[in-house]
Amino acid sequence: MTSAECLFCRIAGGAVPAEVVAQTEQFLAFKDIKPHAPVHLLIIPVEHIPSLADVTPQHTGLMGEAIQFTNRVARQFQLAQTGYRVVVNCGEQAGQTVSHLHLHLLGGRPLRWPPG
Ligand code: 5GP
Ligand code: ZN
Repeated sequence: MTSAECLFCRIAGGAVPAEVVAQTEQFLAFKDIKPHAPVHLLIIPVEHIPSLADVTPQHTGLMGEAIQFTNRVARQFQLAQTGYRVVVNCGEQAGQTVSHLHLHLLGGRPLRWPPG
């Protein structure tokens, strides 16, 4: 899949609208179109990485930055005190529907465990 065909590359490039809540050169955070919690954001690298399984040693720095970016966004949404969940669905059986690496940031209500 090319960046032109990838939904989240198109969002990162501004071709598809999204409710962006935070942005750096490397990352974008935007509201999930079908939220499962009062706060349900998607954190994506601007770089097209199809899934978590495609992360290589060259992405080690990027992945560390992704966690710190996610934590900053969680603080922005006042989730630091109450807690939050970060989920990455990888592959078909995990329910990954968009083939561009994304972290779900969920919070604002008690979250059950385990997920289905
Ligand atoms: P996945 O199922 O791959 O882990 O997560 C994909 C997420 O992208 C889903 O939660 C879905 O609601 C969200 N999503 C799908 N299409 C769009 C869209 O066009 N805009 C936004 N903001 N979210 C989307
Ligand atoms: Zn992409």
